[in-house]
Amino acid sequence: MSKYLGPKCKLCRREGEKLMLKGERCQTAKCAIVKKNYPPGMHGPKGRASRQSGYNMQLREKQKAKRIYNLLEKQFKLSFERAIKQKGDAGENLLKILETRLDNVIYRLGFAQSRSQARTLVSHGHFKVNDQKVDIPSFNVQTGDIIKIKESSRTGKQFTNLAEKLKKVEAPGWLNLEIKDFSAKVLHQPAKENFEMKINAQTIVEFYSK
Ligand code: SF4
Repeated sequence: MSKYLGPKCKLCRREGEKLMLKGERCQTAKCAIVKKNYPPGMHGPKGRASRQSGYNMQLREKQKAKRIYNLLEKQFKLSFERAIKQKGDAGENLLKILETRLDNVIYRLGFAQSRSQARTLVSHGHFKVNDQKVDIPSFNVQTGDIIKIKESSRTGKQFTNLAEKLKKVEAPGWLNLEIKDFSAKVLHQPAKENFEMKINAQTIVEFYSK
């Protein structure tokens, strides 16, 4: 399946909730979910109730997670396959795999405004993990890892006024952000309460287990 290139806000309207795909705009009254919370193509807030059959609910939860983390179906399914091979609860494993992706970490630290911007910045080689350049967005960070913006990238326009912007960032509890040297340490693996978005991972496991 090819990557969706249409307006991001339509994806949120399809899922009926904020997926936080457009950075600062998502926090404002300009957010399409604030202005028109009904599916695209409809002319008013009706019809959402018909979505809730078992299969449809599972499909929508999977689509929602895939869109939040900005992944293609193939990439998302690969993450799921890794999750079921690991010990423990497959749903929790899946969420951890998604949340510890380097592109997501860069977004959660406030080094990028959105996950899609974070993906681009990682691919362009602006970050190091444990002093080694890592340009693979799907790289999973581990406990104890130190992530930082490469020294030579810090003056780039993509990081203009970053120190000021970072003062407003509430990094999740599993990441310790150090504004002064644009770095962060992974304190532990993310737990349920550390996720930005509520995702019912069990529903996604059920979707793929059919
Ligand atoms: Fe979704 Fe953000 Fe657009 Fe709101 S502004 S609809 S949260 S992408």
